[in-house]
Amino acid sequence: MEKFTGKGVYGAVAIGKISVFKKHDIEVKPVHIGDAEKEKRRFEEAKAASLAQLEEIHAKALAESGEEDAAIFEAHIMMLDDEDYYDFVSNIIESQSVNAEYAVMKTSEHFAEMFSSMDDAYMKARAADIYDISNRVIANLMGKAPDNPYGSGKVILCAPDLAPSETVSLDKDKILAFVTAYGSSNSHTAILAGNMNIPAVIGAGEEFLSKIKDGDEAVVDGYTGEIFLHPDEETKKRLLQKQADEENQKRLLQKLKGKEAVTMDGRKINIFANIGSVDDIDAVLANDADGIGLFRSEFLYLESRDYPAEEQQFTAYKKVLESMAGKKVIIRTLDIGADKQADYFHLKKEENPALGCRAIRLCLTRPEIFKTQLRALYRASLYGNLGIMFPMITSVSELTKILKICEEVKSELTAQSIAYSSQTELGIMIETPAAALISDKLAQMVDFFSVGTNDLTQYTLACDRQNPDVEPFVDTHHEAIFALIQMSAENAHKHGAWIGICGELAADTSLTETFLRMGIDELSVSPAFVLKLRDTVRNLNLSKKERDSFAR
Ligand code: PEP
Ligand code: MG
Repeated sequence: MEKFTGKGVYGAVAIGKISVFKKHDIEVKPVHIGDAEKEKRRFEEAKAASLAQLEEIHAKALAESGEEDAAIFEAHIMMLDDEDYYDFVSNIIESQSVNAEYAVMKTSEHFAEMFSSMDDAYMKARAADIYDISNRVIANLMGKAPDNPYGSGKVILCAPDLAPSETVSLDKDKILAFVTAYGSSNSHTAILAGNMNIPAVIGAGEEFLSKIKDGDEAVVDGYTGEIFLHPDEETKKRLLQKQADEENQKRLLQKLKGKEAVTMDGRKINIFANIGSVDDIDAVLANDADGIGLFRSEFLYLESRDYPAEEQQFTAYKKVLESMAGKKVIIRTLDIGADKQADYFHLKKEENPALGCRAIRLCLTRPEIFKTQLRALYRASLYGNLGIMFPMITSVSELTKILKICEEVKSELTAQSIAYSSQTELGIMIETPAAALISDKLAQMVDFFSVGTNDLTQYTLACDRQNPDVEPFVDTHHEAIFALIQMSAENAHKHGAWIGICGELAADTSLTETFLRMGIDELSVSPAFVLKLRDTVRNLNLSKKERDSFAR
């Protein structure tokens, strides 16, 4: 037995077989070839194999996800079978006497560039499809065909690291636990893994990766971040017992369903849940959250292969609002950029993406995308109790522009006789020190604040949340962060706004009392933490002792 340790991001235990997630980072170099005809035949064989795989995926998507999703693969089949594509590859092989892999790569670059330069947004987005099908052909040429990452049955999925877009695409029903070798615990991948309700460990290390192979038995302890490879009977028994004890605790917490989060001395607080997709609603309802404090709408975009249309977004938001039956639902507008990348946005590579053109900055630079989302949100507002929240705010002028765009969208809807709820609240994330420092002014312009402690920590302590090397320098309980939250809470209340916390710190029960004493009105956490937090609040008595400082 060997033990590895990373950071546990979702507490639970799993025992099972490992499946190593296969990425296809393929390096293609030009190689001179003598026999062009033979090379063309290699290409034809790889193309045929790719088409057969795509037919299979298409049939699976049709059966499991419906026609709309399956249409993507139908389009891929047509693109790959296109005569121009074939001719372009053949020409390069013949005229340059190069290997098929290189010819396919050059062909994909040519067509992707052609699509990217088109005006039509739909055609622009086809560039990503061309890369996708070409990568498949190249993988087949190299004998590295993309295969099923899960093997058979439920597995402990292990990966070097995953992008948020890869994480959202995982088939959660096939995963027992989730382990990455690299990555930091404050990354979106870690947050998503934590939201999947399965044991998850991030940053298990390079050695872990070098030791594992498909089919190895392992136990993952998401509480401690430990992974036991080839566990002995004693370890298995101990962890199974731990799992049973924890399950028992969770069962006891079920008794709190239907009860309020009120302290012993009568202070009530809302415990909301964070979600990343419509599918997470089941977990929110199962854990009886008082509302949704953060719907990270960007995952709708990350799951799509193209800009989600107004109608598609409207359907998703309406479903969430209807499911919550009048409880508050806060939907955050697109927070894309930095680690959250979707090919079809064609975002520029930036030196410092966390300080780059992300989130609201992108929406203000590309107002047509922003307006489409706002139209969908306002239309959906009729179906429940909606709050719209804007990420990454740093200035009054930004917020003024945003509010003006909201007014424009509402006027356009009115002109088209499309109804929306005038009760829709507007709020902002407090996730930059600038926003906290000018919260006195910002609070006069909105209905609520929600503190994003993940980014607020990153920007206040100058520690990139994606960089595991700076994790030792991240003190999530730093007094500077508490001071900024305190200041924001005071300013919110001064102007009649309410304030919540939706970053990961909201789930830290050692701080619940501190947050309540600061005047925080709402805490929004992963659905699985809702009842635990409710329990913590119900056991607090704020009248008992006054703390004179919020610092440790
Ligand atoms: C945050 O920054 O704390 C937050 C809730 O947003 P995200 O983690 O999606 O950046
Ligand atoms: Mg954030």
